[in-house]
Amino acid sequence: MSRTFRVFATCDIGESIDLLRKRGYEVEVYPHPEAPPKSLIVEKVKSGIHGLITTLRDSIDAEVFEAGKQTLKVVAQIAVGFDNINRPDANRYKVPFTHTADVLTEATAEFAFFMLGSLARKTWTAEHVTRENKWGYWHPYLPFLGDEVTGKTIAIIGTGRIGLAMIKKCAGFDMNILCYDPAYQNHDYVKAIQETMDLRHARGICKELNWIKYVKLDEALGHADFVSVHVPLIREGESATPTYHLFNEPTLRTMKATSFLVNTSRGQVVDETALAKALRENWIAGAALDVYEKEPLPQDSPLRDPAIEDRCRLYPHFASAAKITRLSTDPNKGMAGRCVQGLMDVLEGNYGGDVTKMPYVVNKEAFAK
Ligand code: NAD
Repeated sequence: MSRTFRVFATCDIGESIDLLRKRGYEVEVYPHPEAPPKSLIVEKVKSGIHGLITTLRDSIDAEVFEAGKQTLKVVAQIAVGFDNINRPDANRYKVPFTHTADVLTEATAEFAFFMLGSLARKTWTAEHVTRENKWGYWHPYLPFLGDEVTGKTIAIIGTGRIGLAMIKKCAGFDMNILCYDPAYQNHDYVKAIQETMDLRHARGICKELNWIKYVKLDEALGHADFVSVHVPLIREGESATPTYHLFNEPTLRTMKATSFLVNTSRGQVVDETALAKALRENWIAGAALDVYEKEPLPQDSPLRDPAIEDRCRLYPHFASAAKITRLSTDPNKGMAGRCVQGLMDVLEGNYGGDVTKMPYVVNKEAFAK
């Protein structure tokens, strides 16, 4: 590398930072665990950095791109979701931004599945009963029973990378699967899953023949025992199929009273006031959430209501939080590795310097000739 690139990272991403330094990069890392204030990001960008490493907590918009007009060449986000980055602004300033799709797909889907299982079988409440010494006897139905997952029907909302991985895991639990995605339908994948279901039944591995199909949203919500959400946050006006408050009073009322909602996508996809009401008034049986309208979850959130504690599981935006997934320096395994690779691709002019050919760049449309 003939020149030195300067990078500011809004949080520590582990050994991948050393990797950049070994290549001669000057890297400054924001040393605190919480997000830096926007004013500090703007100040650092203005100081002449070439690359900015961001997380989903940082709001990256025209103010930041304007500050970086002279030097900023790339924003490298350590996440697959990029709703915190204003795409039209990035395009206007012609700054490519990268994300870390794929390497967190399986980890996120498996966590969604564990959330689902824990919610249905009431593992949190069961552990409390044990720890608080309230387990006085074995009884056929006391103190409570859970709901089986095996053999039930799940609706997968959004059949992109993580939705498809979730389908694969649910198929392994002999579930029937309703798929909904207005923008992208992978019929080959669904056909292949049906073929594995057919084979498992034919060879006596599963007693019942399971099925999978694409349906409309109402049908998915109205027939599912579990609903798992895997959509990006798309605000009103950003697409023909926005996802902001996709789960609201009417859609929650469409779900069965015995059904469970699992959300590992983005908090604003679910109207939390409506969800708390749905749980209080038993429109649905329970919910498990990894993401919130405001993060960290505020102390006065209606989701903390003790009246719904037994059927509302809350996790700290944790679905991709597994060791290799988060921190591996290998761009084919870890978010950190993929994040710095995306940054290096742009700064070092890999792929002949053609941004449209760089695999981790999101806003390629701004660079099409
Ligand atoms: P993806 O782009 O591959 O898939 C998203 C799918 O949602 C696409 O197929 C798209 O067509 C579909 N979609 C768009 N609008 C829709 C609508 N109105 N209704 C139903 N489907 C719609 O993305 P991905 O890699 O599967 O990730 C999905 C999202 O999960 C990310 O954008 C991110 O916000 C979130 N995520 C969260 C965590 C976590 O730690 N909790 C981890 C990874 C990803």
